[in-house]
Amino acid sequence: MARLNRPASSEHAMPKRKSRLTLPRKRSSVQRTEKSENASRKDGTPTFEDFEKFRRLRKIVDYDHDTVKDKGKMEHVFRVGDYVMVVAEGMDPKKTYHDWEYWVAKIMALACNPAKQTETYARLRWLWSGYDIRSVPHCDSVVDHFGRYERCLSDDEDIADTACINGSAHVMTYNDANLAQAPIPRETFYMRECYKKRHTSPLFVPTRCGLCDGQYNPDELENPMHYCPQATCGTWYHYDCLAQASAVGEYDTEQHHSCGLLLSTPDHRPPSYSRKKKGRSSAKPADSLLQEAATLKLGSALSFMEAQARNDLVELAQQQIVRPTKDGIVGNAAHVLKARSWINQARSSSGLSVKQKKELERWLDELEEAMIDNELISLSSKSRSPKHELWICVNCGGPV
Ligand SMILES: [Zn+2]
Ligand SMILES: [Zn+2]
Repeated sequence: MARLNRPASSEHAMPKRKSRLTLPRKRSSVQRTEKSENASRKDGTPTFEDFEKFRRLRKIVDYDHDTVKDKGKMEHVFRVGDYVMVVAEGMDPKKTYHDWEYWVAKIMALACNPAKQTETYARLRWLWSGYDIRSVPHCDSVVDHFGRYERCLSDDEDIADTACINGSAHVMTYNDANLAQAPIPRETFYMRECYKKRHTSPLFVPTRCGLCDGQYNPDELENPMHYCPQATCGTWYHYDCLAQASAVGEYDTEQHHSCGLLLSTPDHRPPSYSRKKKGRSSAKPADSLLQEAATLKLGSALSFMEAQARNDLVELAQQQIVRPTKDGIVGNAAHVLKARSWINQARSSSGLSVKQKKELERWLDELEEAMIDNELISLSSKSRSPKHELWICVNCGGPV
């Protein structure tokens, strides 16, 4: 597949990098060159065959790279297996770019020209962006949900002069079906596990919206997805789809809804919980959950905690489970569900053991530290979905 020109942005958000304009060659031109034996390309980039010869003569494992020589003494060493950003076709060295505008690749092998040892080359495997795979058949539905920083490992390789490499790229793995997924900060490259191998043959089906059947686009901060964690449900919904379906429940007040949220966990099942039939947009919340939420009293269950810690825990447990949040694309599911689980256990007849109470204290401390360090999560109500509505799940009637 030929790589495409992409429009250069004039926005200036990233520090200036030293850009190089020696371009990696397209695969099609490599194949043409290979037809004539021993032919070196006009710009001196070796063919795959030459590259393998270089490797046999002088294989290198590390490549020292002074990315920002003009700004400081930060030096990078790239190794085989590293992900890197590559200067894209048409980039202007005088301009600054967002990281997502660079091409991203994985270094598969490194070699240098034995006749001219200052010339080092890399065999790069491209990580395609949504833009790149737009022209691949059967992938148009996938592209619509690709975030700007989302990439998918292709089997498309090129030999490139290492001078094209502009810096390392941190690429994380994202499993959007795993509620315990580690946080992924904004403006970080990621590959969704479902597309990791080949986007044409997903490893598993990604999560879909319970109303429109669409996938999750991590860039849609204004249309976050809401999650229903009730036992036997586990459905995600786009905010806009809930609004369109008028999925408003019979919750009297925000307080009532918040108490319902606090009770919604995969391990808590109200006594007369009943699953509503799919497709009923006017489904009523499970009566017992409504009643339980209306009369919820935490009483002495959390009285062993200091007031501030208790408030933090309850506030976190009452948050709507959404993604993305302003802090990252993974959302708040892991922390909110953990907080609900602690409260659920504390309310049970056996309560929390001394050991569990210590664990809870440690968990809250760690959360606070993580919050200070990288602001990926927040205990404050400010991290709630900007549009806080008293939504219910159209599938089971639980609050979302
Ligand atoms: Zn939807
Ligand atoms: Zn549900």
